[in-house]
Amino acid sequence: MSRIQDTIREILSQLPPQTRLVAVSKYHPSSAIMEAYEAGQRIFGESHVQELQRKAAELPKDIEWHFIGHLQTNKVKYIVPYVSLIHAVDSERLLAEIDKQASRCGRIVPCLLQLHIAQEETKYGFTEAELLELLQSHRLEQYQSVSVCGLMCMASNVDDEGQINREFHKADTLFNSLKNSFFADNTEFAEKSWGMSDDYPIAISNGSTLIRIGSKIFGTRM
Ligand SMILES: *Cc1c(COP(=O)(O)O)cnc(C)c1O
Repeated sequence: MSRIQDTIREILSQLPPQTRLVAVSKYHPSSAIMEAYEAGQRIFGESHVQELQRKAAELPKDIEWHFIGHLQTNKVKYIVPYVSLIHAVDSERLLAEIDKQASRCGRIVPCLLQLHIAQEETKYGFTEAELLELLQSHRLEQYQSVSVCGLMCMASNVDDEGQINREFHKADTLFNSLKNSFFADNTEFAEKSWGMSDDYPIAISNGSTLIRIGSKIFGTRM
């Protein structure tokens, strides 16, 4: 068994039943994806549109491709026909564009709203106040070709596990409160995408349902 396959099995053995693994394959060749595929992995995460296009064309059709990075509105049209989940919807403008393109190809595209929770100024996403404003406004109802399936966030890039834990805890608490207030009857609003190679155990203890793991599986990127 290869190192990639060993690592996938090790990670899967630690996951509670509600948590799924997104293997983040950005910058890694299709051959590495195939090793993971042969270990049974079917969900892969990419963050560059052209790279995803190329890999989706050449790899098996039963792979679920998740777009995990910052997505530019002018590139939405290239991935909407086949992408299974867009994790990092960080503006209403982007959501509106996904809706428009999804409607053109007769799909309903699952999306997560990105919560800005880390302390770094540069990270993308909605603040808690912005999310509340969007949901209270009922503007989401006009986007009939997207399905808002939950929240995504990234913790601060720090060594302080206490801080990472506080950030994921905040995301989990906010998810639960939004679920109660705005999605109580909506079974699709169920996903919490948090946790990467260095912090996924903390994310899982804070309710994560999707962990996005790259370097731990595939090694450091080229
Ligand atoms: C690259 C990336 C990951 C994976 O990060 P690792 O530290 O390599 O596990 C997860 N989420 C997003 C949004 C990424 O861009």
